[in-house]
Amino acid sequence: MADRRGLGSGSFAGCLERVASILRASRDSVAFTGAGISTDSGIPDFRGRQGLWKRFDPRMATRSFMLEDPRAFWEFYAMRFEALAGAVPNPGHRALARLEGEGFLGAVITQNIDGLHAKAGSRRVIELHGNIMTSRCDHCGSVRSTEECVRLVRVKGEVPRCGCGGMLRPSVVLFEEPVEMFEAALRISQESDLCLVVGSSLTVYPAAAIPEVVKAAGGKLVIINADPTPLDERADLVVREGASPALAGILRALEIGEI
Ligand code: NAD
Repeated sequence: MADRRGLGSGSFAGCLERVASILRASRDSVAFTGAGISTDSGIPDFRGRQGLWKRFDPRMATRSFMLEDPRAFWEFYAMRFEALAGAVPNPGHRALARLEGEGFLGAVITQNIDGLHAKAGSRRVIELHGNIMTSRCDHCGSVRSTEECVRLVRVKGEVPRCGCGGMLRPSVVLFEEPVEMFEAALRISQESDLCLVVGSSLTVYPAAAIPEVVKAAGGKLVIINADPTPLDERADLVVREGASPALAGILRALEIGEI
């Protein structure tokens, strides 16, 4: 049974000390992050308390919706791009970059499409669901900036098109589309002896299988998330706290400074 902060497992500081000692003992660790690490940068998650799916239908992020109603699809993604474009990394992103820099973390596998891990200085980042800052032609694959596409949507009310006639769409993985980076993420997780989950409901598959793979191969699983997840029961430690204060506390416990 996992220990849980708030369920009789001791103080917050004590809990973070235990994460620090798990990180010290690990040879090859990987962080698996979700929308919850970016809420402190002002980006709403999907399934948390203020989640986007409380206001919008998840069908808007499906391939079939993009093909059926490209204008409404682009209105939705223009809104998402505008919410993400000005965001800057928060202490949680910076702490993971510092953990990598100090040799405590081998890689970050993220479900996020906001690009904030790389902006924070993380070097080995797998963006499982792509990155919203670029768009590509759904027909020939040629790449443009999403900013350019959003300008067309907002100023002219047009669906952005490529010179070849195909529709441009954000370079993100929509529901009903394959997760092309999954194999690379799987290889990293098979070699890892610790998965540090940060800010994910662990409900979107196949991405959420990554922590399960580490655990099934005998590795440790630490979950830092504001709400319960389906994997809590199998975790070695659950920290039910905000990502930024928890990760900042882990840096202090490892004595690698403030962020
Ligand atoms: P999710 O919305 O399903 O779950 C987010 C989890 O984070 C929730 O359980 C919530 O309790 C927790 N959380 C929220 N704020 C937190 C905080 N400050 N500290 C700790 N925990 C916090 O997100 P998911 O699991 O990443 O899966 C949803 C999909 O949403 C992903 O595929 C991703 O591509 C996409 N998404 C990305 C972004 C982004 O790029 N920033 C934003 C929204 C959704």
